[in-house]
Amino acid sequence: MVNLIFYGGVKEIGGNKILLEDGDARFFLDFGVSFSRRSRYFEEYLPPRSANGLGDFLATNLIPDIRGIYREDLLVHMGREPEDPEISAVILSHAHADHANYVSFLHKDIPIYCGETCKYILDAVNEQSKRNIENEVVDFKRRPIIPGKREEPIKRKFKLFRTGDNITIDSVDIEPIHVDHSVPGSYGFIIYTSKGPIVYTGDLRMHGTNPGLTRDFIERAKEERPIAIITEGTRINEKRGEESEEKVYVKAKEELKNARGLCVVDFNFKDVDRFRTFYRVSRELDKFLVISFKHACFLERYHLDGKLKVPDSKGEGILLLKPKMRTGTYADYDYISEPYIKSRLNYPNIITAEEISKNPEDYIVVLNYWYFNTLIDLKPEKGVYVHSLSEPFNEEMEISFERMMEWLKLFNLRYVHAHCSGHAYGEDILNMIKEIRPKKIFPIHTENPEGFKNLDGEIVIVKEGEKYTL
Ligand SMILES: [Zn+2]
Repeated sequence: MVNLIFYGGVKEIGGNKILLEDGDARFFLDFGVSFSRRSRYFEEYLPPRSANGLGDFLATNLIPDIRGIYREDLLVHMGREPEDPEISAVILSHAHADHANYVSFLHKDIPIYCGETCKYILDAVNEQSKRNIENEVVDFKRRPIIPGKREEPIKRKFKLFRTGDNITIDSVDIEPIHVDHSVPGSYGFIIYTSKGPIVYTGDLRMHGTNPGLTRDFIERAKEERPIAIITEGTRINEKRGEESEEKVYVKAKEELKNARGLCVVDFNFKDVDRFRTFYRVSRELDKFLVISFKHACFLERYHLDGKLKVPDSKGEGILLLKPKMRTGTYADYDYISEPYIKSRLNYPNIITAEEISKNPEDYIVVLNYWYFNTLIDLKPEKGVYVHSLSEPFNEEMEISFERMMEWLKLFNLRYVHAHCSGHAYGEDILNMIKEIRPKKIFPIHTENPEGFKNLDGEIVIVKEGEKYTL
């Protein structure tokens, strides 16, 4: 008997946590954060209390109350007995937080399977983010943390794969196959259960830079005549449009070429395609691409993966923006506690905001909204800002967006939008399913599962926590 239980990704975009049981084999496909659910109860100044271990996360249903999966220290911290692991593995489709981040809560002995590039990205996230109970995917510190007592973080067990590898979890074989998404190292899977093959898409698209990757996945999936598909449906109600990375390049280049003053851009640094686009634009326009020390953590790891073909953080035409440092009486005081900054301060390609402000037209500065206060140091008098991210799709984002526009107004920066989504158009998803011809279809990672229709297989509108037996 094969069971599927969905603990996240149900009627929401992301938060995938799918438990698959086949005889003795029990494992999760992804274990991510449900951002929409989290923001229903929490916000910046009303966060889940880490002093309550897992308590706040369980009470608000952000994670399921299942035996034998959680960290011993967090269970004890909330007054429960520790439990031995009762699942064999978690398999990650890619490195986005809505698929990976709640691995942070899992028992140290549960192995995490992911793509090699996915691990590089998780390492980069780990290097440059502050330790926080919701962000301890790669390693964690036992709670409570006792001040003054030095304790080394506990490293999780990672098992890395590439396309062509075979994963065996207890009695179940799993074949990972690359797909194209807005982060490298993304995979779909064919899971060979005792009842037949089940396909899991993870997140994917057909209109990106490497449609061939997704094509390979579809070809393999259809050969196997699967009994079921678990598929993403982020944009299921959208007809095919004209988005492409090439269009982002053309539009961004045109705008940045004609800009007078400072060029500022924002994109997600996990998206290597987008980095390449802006790097290419900067080279062709003969401008320096200025990145942050946080970005450098990502770039250096991408560079290690020769296949990604990106320069490292000291590469030609790349500069690192020095963060604001205190001056005056306390100049000697060693206040830079972040090791990722300290270890890079001796790089030859570091530039200050002051230097940039002298010749703003020589630079394209990659600046995330959360660091917009840096504009005060960059002092642009005019220029252009290319927003290369999705437009706001909820109330919180709308508020931040309005604030962002105020900053742009303050510094006379013209707003331009140029983006290409990581998710397939609905039409492409439906065509993929028609081609693969699964007997059952489980739409997840969508607010509109009813958008899946006119298909040959049985469409299951998933309920959270319910057991589906195949
Ligand atoms: Zn996702």
